[in-house]
Amino acid sequence: MKGVVQGVGFRPFVYSLAQRHGLKGWVNNSSEGVHLEVEGDPGVVEQFTGEISRYAPPRARIESLRFEDLNWAGFQDFKIRESVEEEGKYQLISPDIATCKACQDEVFDPGDRRSRYPFTNCTNCGPRFTIIEDIPYDRPKTTMAKFRMCPQCRREYDDPANRRFHAQPNACPVCGPRVRLCDRESKPLSADDPISSAIRLLREGKILATKGLGGFLLACDAQDAPVVEKLRQRKHRPHKPFAVMLKNLAAVKEHCLLNGEEEKLLLSPESPIVLLPWKKDSSIASPVAPGQKYLGVMLPYTPLHHLLLQESGMALVMTSGNLSEEPIAKDNEEALLRLGGIADAFLLHDRDIYVQYDDSVVALSSGQPTILRRARGYAPFPVGLPFATTPILACGAELKNTFCLTQDGYAFISQHIGDLENLETLSHFQRTVELYQKLFRINPELVAYDLHPEYLSTKYALELPGKKVGVQHHFAHLVSCLAENGEAGPVIGLTFDGLGYGTDGCLWGGEFLVGDYRSFTRKAHFEYLPMPGGAAAIRHPWRMALSYVYTLLGKERLMRHLPLFTSAALSSESGEQKIRVLLQQIDRRMNSPLTSSCGRLFDGVSALLGLCFSISFEGQAAMALEMIADLDEEGAYEFFTEIEDGKEMIRLGPLVGGILQDLEKGIDRSRISAKFHNTLVKTGVSLCKRIREHEGPDQVALSGGVFQNRLLSERMKAALEESGFTVLVHRQVPCNDGGLSLGQAVIANFIN
Ligand code: ZN
Ligand code: ZN
Ligand code: FE
Repeated sequence: MKGVVQGVGFRPFVYSLAQRHGLKGWVNNSSEGVHLEVEGDPGVVEQFTGEISRYAPPRARIESLRFEDLNWAGFQDFKIRESVEEEGKYQLISPDIATCKACQDEVFDPGDRRSRYPFTNCTNCGPRFTIIEDIPYDRPKTTMAKFRMCPQCRREYDDPANRRFHAQPNACPVCGPRVRLCDRESKPLSADDPISSAIRLLREGKILATKGLGGFLLACDAQDAPVVEKLRQRKHRPHKPFAVMLKNLAAVKEHCLLNGEEEKLLLSPESPIVLLPWKKDSSIASPVAPGQKYLGVMLPYTPLHHLLLQESGMALVMTSGNLSEEPIAKDNEEALLRLGGIADAFLLHDRDIYVQYDDSVVALSSGQPTILRRARGYAPFPVGLPFATTPILACGAELKNTFCLTQDGYAFISQHIGDLENLETLSHFQRTVELYQKLFRINPELVAYDLHPEYLSTKYALELPGKKVGVQHHFAHLVSCLAENGEAGPVIGLTFDGLGYGTDGCLWGGEFLVGDYRSFTRKAHFEYLPMPGGAAAIRHPWRMALSYVYTLLGKERLMRHLPLFTSAALSSESGEQKIRVLLQQIDRRMNSPLTSSCGRLFDGVSALLGLCFSISFEGQAAMALEMIADLDEEGAYEFFTEIEDGKEMIRLGPLVGGILQDLEKGIDRSRISAKFHNTLVKTGVSLCKRIREHEGPDQVALSGGVFQNRLLSERMKAALEESGFTVLVHRQVPCNDGGLSLGQAVIANFIN
């Protein structure tokens, strides 16, 4: 048997099933999966093999079952044999799993020997991927190796009938890891119970760094606005929303609207952060997610979290333990050093984390779960591909980086690594690539990379030995969406995102491609406009607004609206002088790269409406625009297209002109925002129809970070379907650059 069959209680399950049927033989773990031999009446053996897949343990995932007839060996009983290691073989590894109900009950049972024990786990739950150093998955190859099981734990571990049979992280208060509470200098802070003392500090408005499954999380009282503001200041994260952890579903319902699908996600073994509609009367402090309609909520997923939440009854901000965009801290010493300026106290423990693992983020889109950040609970489980693959390493993009390794029709997409903009994140990337290669025994024969010469992932790829394949960014988005849907294309790739390096050296991002796994043609795109100041135009959306108005509508029109831009310029840079310099840059094409980006268009419109002149995190201006949209508004602005170089060029003049007119008329910004969204939908549908008329496909793949915008993606999908298109969307990997590595790997596989 191959699949996720180790560390999930598979052998004891097989053992008791064989016992029940009176079959003789053995079962063991190998580097490849689970092997077993059984002897008995052929009819009974058949029944037994059928029941293996039917009644497999809840966390197991059988990917393949192979049968063989063997000679009679005359076994006397049924045994669980020692694990065996095989050269070059690999197996799937389970992600970390949220604490199961049975373990929760023990933790809250005052009579149980694991009462209030923060590291309680069993074969159905607990850490897996974050503690494993190599395969086969056995205790000596995990960070639990240093804890010697006490006789009672050992008995559970050895007893095939026990829920903890071969539960590698098995532990109890006598023999297992312990928590301690200390200050920034590592001096103990509690004489008695570290958890109760930690709760006392949280109640006093302190910021607590807690060591979790995949790294440190910073916790504070989510209902106390000043402490949330303090956390933002210390973490250098002024606006980006925080997630909250709530003790149970009833608490979630106090603060958010919740449907059945979302409830299932919250309670799932993956236990991700779910973006939920945030109630107006919720007592969660508004600085937790400034200006947002949605709140990121998760339930406790380790016994330590359950204890903190249950015993405090509080709603806690839980955000990654790092300074703005660095990787999440995972070791005690490292945390004390790096988080010393943020946290007032540290709740540490002595179970080491082998690899960082952020919380995953999921939202519903068109009623279905869609993953926005893929890490805890999901990675390193692979995406299955409908074709065979050679061993490939795809290095991904820059922002929200993930990489992808392929083998035997599996795409092992890494957990979210982060923005590859600093050395800390780059070395996290390198270490994780090495870990995946080791765990899954993959020696890449091909390396795929993004065409952007400045991405650190590209530079890393180009320094590796062997054959390399450069892949255009939006082509990779298109193929990522195709592949995760098990489709081969050709498809219209409607790709709206921030920026991606184009084959013509411009920065693309509002693209209509037609392609399959092997090639693509660019059929249409938004017209090119200058980004005055290059990267500065990304950080300061008002610069994009200025560029749109000036380039599309001319200087006179710009002068009429100058007050808007001077206020923006004055607040962020230095006024009219600055504007003159920018206009010169645009005129002379100096430091003003051309872009067809839809993300930048969102930025520009957001700034025109005065919502967001400068940003502190990617997507901030676009989110602000989405949040205010009046859902009842059905109007839209005009647009037209022109053929240029054999491609349809979407002209944006009428859109920007229409917005300025509405602003002059004093039309509410919520209606302008909705009209803008509707215009994009209208443009998308009309261009797809035009492509279909010219013998193009009737299938559309929606990809690119802009489709994290729920309003846009839901309306686009519905409108395309109404026009007879089949619409593919991302579900298993993010539509943003976090899903890019999958597309790169698939393309490299087909064009090598
Ligand atoms: Zn459990
Ligand atoms: Zn023990
Ligand atoms: Fe992208």
